[in-house]
Amino acid sequence: MHAQPRFAAYPFALGVASGDPDEGGFVLWTRIASVGSDAAFLAQEDFTVDWVVAEDEQLRQVVRRGTAIASADWAHSVHVEVDGLAADRSYWYQFRCGGEASATGRTRTLPAPGARTSRLRLALASCQHYEHGYFAAYRHMLSDDLDLVLHVGDYIYEGSWGPQVRRHESPDGADTLAGYRNRHACYKSDDDLQRAHAAYPWLVTWDDHEVSNDYAGSVSRYGETPSAFVQRRTSAYRAYYEHMPLRARHRPGAGGMSLYRRAQFGDLATFNILDDRQYRSAHACAEQGEKVADCPQRWSRAQTMLGDTQQRWLEDGLTSSATRWKVIAQQTLIAPFVSRKNDGREVVWTDGWDGYAGARAHLLDFIAERRVPDVVTLGGDVHAFYATDLKTDFDDPDSPVVATEFVGTSLSTQGDDYAAIARDLPLNPHVRHFENRWRGYLRCEITPKLWRSDLRIVDDVTDVRSDARTLLSLHVESGRAGVQA
Ligand code: FE
Ligand code: CA
Repeated sequence: MHAQPRFAAYPFALGVASGDPDEGGFVLWTRIASVGSDAAFLAQEDFTVDWVVAEDEQLRQVVRRGTAIASADWAHSVHVEVDGLAADRSYWYQFRCGGEASATGRTRTLPAPGARTSRLRLALASCQHYEHGYFAAYRHMLSDDLDLVLHVGDYIYEGSWGPQVRRHESPDGADTLAGYRNRHACYKSDDDLQRAHAAYPWLVTWDDHEVSNDYAGSVSRYGETPSAFVQRRTSAYRAYYEHMPLRARHRPGAGGMSLYRRAQFGDLATFNILDDRQYRSAHACAEQGEKVADCPQRWSRAQTMLGDTQQRWLEDGLTSSATRWKVIAQQTLIAPFVSRKNDGREVVWTDGWDGYAGARAHLLDFIAERRVPDVVTLGGDVHAFYATDLKTDFDDPDSPVVATEFVGTSLSTQGDDYAAIARDLPLNPHVRHFENRWRGYLRCEITPKLWRSDLRIVDDVTDVRSDARTLLSLHVESGRAGVQA
């Protein structure tokens, strides 16, 4: 044990973070990532890291302090769970190791479950390809006075799409534990991302690119054998845990990593944070490719998106929630999206919920039959803003709207062809708004009567100093599912 290691470079170069707040605390994160002059030796040592939590930014009114182990086994990451604090207030925190101090982070506890709560503000982020642009959007979140940042995946991209604005740490794709660790460290080195982590508590879940493009459970899109792919996935999940502010109960094992969980914000909102990737069935009708005409497998009861255990857990959460808003935070577009090919055939993309159409119908039927009011779903993945009316029968114009969906655009990853998607909008009347020409995030202000979603865009993702603005605001009224323009 190196009680006082001496680092040749700043050991907190990846910043600090906090996450998974509840009414009494949160988890604090950092990773000692500097290598010293005796790097090989230090890399195998565990370090002790001191931490403090204070009621003020100058860290004078310290309310908790302790020492954590940054173990070599876990890439010298530190996850400190703090509890017993006061509900619904800000705290500041800092780490020290080897005579060096980290940046000071700010975080917040949640209002106690059931406590009357008049407002919640969050930013929804996803899809931040480092090579495609800068993370100026995160800098603009700093002036948004948020309670939470919610990240729904593609936090890293395992592969390179060619250097466009800046380069990954390596032109190679990540597929080993060392590779995923280095890729996470590359992203975490971004100054704007670090500031957003240091400013707000985050709730995170992953999508595909934290492991491999469009994987489904243990099935790779690229023909790796399931056993080889699960080994790769295990490395990726481990690196994800090591770099995220997640509580120890999510620490991965050989079989996988449990990530789905709930957070309750007073009497105002319950967040059901899903894992759409780990338990899903292989893609439907894969012999037809990624975009398919209808096929029975999409509707099969065996074709699961969440797995039975998570599905039941979600249903329990929806019916037992005592909060006004029931939020389903997940990876991708839930609503169907039909596109017409040049030959006139109508097809859907099977990596999204369209490949799991029976599971989607089951979920929306459940919400309708149990009359669960005020359900709002949040997603990412498709590099576009979508606002949709979720219905039990999308082919029937008179089918009632049972929930409201917002998908946030990509933080930096480039979008698909706007004109091609816009041409297909008439085939999808439940899509109330679509926009993919800008990068940015969705900012939500939630009150008991009204949910407002602001489509926030950066003017130029290739400019680290880019301005940001609100393109449009969309609303949902409590008691009335569906988007109000
Ligand atoms: Fe993406
Ligand atoms: Ca994705």
